[in-house]
Amino acid sequence: MTKPFIRNHQYNLIKKLANQLQNTCNTVADRKVVEAVRHSVQTRILETFHDAMDVQKQMVEQVSTLTKAEEFQHYLNSLEQHVEMFKPVTEMQLKKLFPKVKKLKAPNLAAIDYRYVTYLGWNDIATNRKYIIYHLNDRLVGTEGRFTLVSKKSVCFLCNRHEEVALYTAVTKFKPANASPDYYKAIGNYVCVNSETCNKNITNVAALETFLHAVTGDRYL
Ligand SMILES: [Zn+2]
Repeated sequence: MTKPFIRNHQYNLIKKLANQLQNTCNTVADRKVVEAVRHSVQTRILETFHDAMDVQKQMVEQVSTLTKAEEFQHYLNSLEQHVEMFKPVTEMQLKKLFPKVKKLKAPNLAAIDYRYVTYLGWNDIATNRKYIIYHLNDRLVGTEGRFTLVSKKSVCFLCNRHEEVALYTAVTKFKPANASPDYYKAIGNYVCVNSETCNKNITNVAALETFLHAVTGDRYL
């Protein structure tokens, strides 16, 4: 058995593509159309797992060959054992990430199922702050920002889905060489209010990683 290699966002992508293919199999009679969808599913999967081992690629691309609802269900269940969990964190690590925050309101870490976590995010309603932490190239990084609720649903910049969002504003630590001492630049994005929902939706980490590079100011993490 290979060791866990599917990250949460990749598992979400497989589930999403499995759903699309299953719907196509159920509703489309034209074989050519079904074959085209199978091909596109396989391509998307192989793109995401481009640096995986051959045996791992074979395992994940198998989704493109399935047809019946029970096959998809069985297959997705069997993949769960290969999901690589988010490396658990301690309250001490969180405090070290945010040394300037006097009374850090950490989430209940014992209650988290780390298998379904791409990034750990939580809100402190009392201070209107949102915290996001992530293992970026094996280094734990975190950011905190102002969190302003908005009254309508919008597209979250991390999971790209239409959800209940808040405007999340973080100050970047990156300073141009000729910047004045009081220079600061804030980056604002709409992000899911509920990070658990966002972690169930997210299928790609590019936006998250770009954002974290920008706010931590370290391009070479
Ligand atoms: Zn989201």
